[in-house]
Amino acid sequence: MVADHLRRRDINDPQVLAAFATVPRERFVPDPLLERAYDDVPLPIGSGQTISQPYVVAITAQALALTGHERVLEIGTGSGYAAAVLGQLAREVHTVERIEELARTAAIRLVELGFHNVYVHHGDGTLGWPSNAPYEAIAVAAGAPRPPPALLEQLTIGGRLVVPTGPSEQQRLVRITREGHHQYVEEDLGDVRFVPLLGEQGWPVPTSS
Ligand code: SAH
Repeated sequence: MVADHLRRRDINDPQVLAAFATVPRERFVPDPLLERAYDDVPLPIGSGQTISQPYVVAITAQALALTGHERVLEIGTGSGYAAAVLGQLAREVHTVERIEELARTAAIRLVELGFHNVYVHHGDGTLGWPSNAPYEAIAVAAGAPRPPPALLEQLTIGGRLVVPTGPSEQQRLVRITREGHHQYVEEDLGDVRFVPLLGEQGWPVPTSS
């Protein structure tokens, strides 16, 4: 069980642990990797992308301090796994994926599994998803060179953004809390390694993708 791994580390929020116990990670992993679905590692999901490591999803979810009432934005849907977990902790989740095939597959999977408060959108998430803004919480599941300004703008006052930032090989996971219109406080949550956030306010998109 994923929740057992997490409890042994520093994940102690009972709601977060309950959310992990509810979402069947094996349904988000390609069939040939099924037996590894409950290992605490990222796994390939096609299109050169990965389903996030449960521990990192848990750190992010815990840092967002969700109470069940929030509108949450996630950037980087991938398999939809983290969005499903966040959906257990918040009122609704909007998740944005730049690779159309992944967005489509994740949307179908989430509906099939009954995660009806998770809405998948296809587009460049470095620009956020303005039509549903502002958000009480934003999670970014790909490494950005710096926090995208569009995401900072789409936070409510009091809202939290968790984003991996820094060079492409290794990032710091940071939580940024919007304390006023132009006032943001940043906290360091540790070293992480994510696939790059590609787009207008992220890393340049390689000409082949
Ligand atoms: N949270 C996912 C894993 C995400 S991997 C899960 O639980 O499965 C990171 C994802 O971010 C990849 O699918 C990648 O295509 C996507 N991504 C990268 N740049 C993006 C951007 N600008 N907008 C939206 N998605 C992006």
